[in-house]
Amino acid sequence: MSDLRVLVADDDASCRLVLRAAVERLGYECVVATDGDDAWAQFQTTLPDVLITDWMMPGLDGPELCRRARQRSDDGYTYVILATALGEHENVLEGMEAGADDYLTKPISPFDVRARLVAAKRVTELHKELERLNAALAAQARTDPLTGLGNRLLLHEDLAALHDRAVRYDQGYCVAICDLDDFKQFNDTYGHLAGDAALIKLGQLLARETRYGDRAYRYGGEEFLVTLAAQTLPDAMVAMERLRCSVEQLAIPHAGNRASDVMTISVGVSAWSYEDLDTPTTVIDRGDAALYQSKAAGRNRVTADHPEHRTENLR
Ligand SMILES: [Mg+2]
Repeated sequence: MSDLRVLVADDDASCRLVLRAAVERLGYECVVATDGDDAWAQFQTTLPDVLITDWMMPGLDGPELCRRARQRSDDGYTYVILATALGEHENVLEGMEAGADDYLTKPISPFDVRARLVAAKRVTELHKELERLNAALAAQARTDPLTGLGNRLLLHEDLAALHDRAVRYDQGYCVAICDLDDFKQFNDTYGHLAGDAALIKLGQLLARETRYGDRAYRYGGEEFLVTLAAQTLPDAMVAMERLRCSVEQLAIPHAGNRASDVMTISVGVSAWSYEDLDTPTTVIDRGDAALYQSKAAGRNRVTADHPEHRTENLR
């Protein structure tokens, strides 16, 4: 189990001493701040699991510190304990409304600190577990379960980011759409399990052979999409022609393939163009059109879509 990082904020030296001793006796890390502004600065650098804060301090007061702690910029959670003098119970309610989880009554008793930190540890560990689960779920929602490649959701997010960078820095990118040739016949001949195995093999090949900065996604049933960041169309054509050869070299028998007796892919490649005011969707659409040309020209080939050279063929 992870240890707690505790930030103690109090302008009273004896309170700080008692709190620090109690925290450290439990074996937890303790950072100390002497006023509200200092506390906020330390908060932002240490991102503590627990904040024990005084109510009245020079600079930011306790409730303001609570409010800011609740707006932590990362996903983490800080358990906030407000320390307040006896007989100021209306402060406690105000503090809880500002975001405090619990309170301590002054004079501070080490036993109370200890009891509060037991609860704090349980709550922060639950939050950490939730964050971990959320991250795992987010990754799972963006992964194609069969091939382990990114799925369409991840593609659309990544492509939007790629596109924004392209617009900002005028740094082009390309999109290649790859389709297994005559895959329906493959399934009819060898069965769907063999079809799945072929898709897995192709997915592994794509993951292995795409270069740094390029990413492969499962786009549809037997369709894959590769994004090529900071690439010109001729460079992307070379990369995809190499990939087409690699698929052929897998030598997966495919009797129903009209282009070959092994499994092959047809590819359409398109480049984002600043002048054409392309959106990610138009880049994909033109890649699709180029893919269609690859199919019409006999499959197992790579075709570039380009305003000046729309039917350029690399075979
Ligand atoms: Mg004070």
